[in-house]
Amino acid sequence: MSPLRVAIVGFGKIARDQHVPAIAATEGVELVAVVDPHTSLPGVPHATMLDQLLRDGPDIDAVAICTPPQVRQAQAAIALAAGKHVMLEKPPGATVAEITPLQAVARRSQRTLLAAWHSRYAPAVEPARRLLVDRKITSVSITWKEDVRVWHPGQAWIFEPGGLGVFDPGINALSILTHILPQPVFITSADLAFPANRDAPIAASLAFSDPQGLKITAEFDFRQTGPQSWDIDIGTDGGPVTLSHGGARLTAADGQNATAMHAEYPALYRRFSELAVNGESDVDLAPLQLVADAFLLGRRRIVEPFED
Ligand code: NAP
Repeated sequence: MSPLRVAIVGFGKIARDQHVPAIAATEGVELVAVVDPHTSLPGVPHATMLDQLLRDGPDIDAVAICTPPQVRQAQAAIALAAGKHVMLEKPPGATVAEITPLQAVARRSQRTLLAAWHSRYAPAVEPARRLLVDRKITSVSITWKEDVRVWHPGQAWIFEPGGLGVFDPGINALSILTHILPQPVFITSADLAFPANRDAPIAASLAFSDPQGLKITAEFDFRQTGPQSWDIDIGTDGGPVTLSHGGARLTAADGQNATAMHAEYPALYRRFSELAVNGESDVDLAPLQLVADAFLLGRRRIVEPFED
């Protein structure tokens, strides 16, 4: 079978750090072009705009859209209209409703639309989901705290409207939460800390529940210096279960432990290429819906200005 010829659209940090090496490591997937207004990759054809690439070639089968969320919908629409399969980096859009028409076009044209919840492909996430199937869950506590200056240097878009602020990493935790819990959850309160000079929150304290009244909390903070935390602690009737290191490590009281690192993006590209064979889609909007609901319900606090 001929390889899936992929163009990366938006050649920034995540494209360079994860997509390029993952494509190189994945059989049946090939990087054939890069689209970015300013940045290129030596030896790989480059266009500054997606429509220029689609007009002037080289031929591609698919795009991996790694631009900031505010411009993704228009790019995905152009790519689908041109008959290309589309991977959307997380979050899949700047709003929830903008994804629905993309799903409809993908379905009609039998093209793949993949919402790339990369954290769900972290190696301990699936073992955790399986472990929890037979447990009664009594509590969930999420701590997702990282240093925005380290992980998002100079990315002004992240604090602009639609950039999600601290929910940019926080949505990764929500993508894991909504995958490993057997039942849907909903936001019950949100406290959002907005820097006085920014349009997106730098920290958030969230509470969630499920129809049975399960208590779930999440603390997101972009101001964390020193040790970083990407942890989910789950109380169960079989003892505590911890998913740490962003889903790379599982620690459970009954010894069901697992650790592995750096496997998310190759697994994502394997999934993309499998889906593309039949033009199937995989778009779960639950994590983005929770973020939207946190903004709907959230109490806004103004905190000290943030300077990059
Ligand atoms: P980034 O470093 O700012 O990269 C975004 C790139 O897109 C920049 O090179 C930007 O160019 C380019 N761009 C902007 N508008 C464009 C357009 N219309 N057409 C083509 N390219 C355009 O951001 P990032 O960290 O890679 O994040 C991108 C997405 O990946 C975000 O949604 C983020 O949530 C997700 N992600 C990031 C990480 C991470 O650790 N950084 C991890 C997982 C997922 P200019 O800079 O010239 O505007």
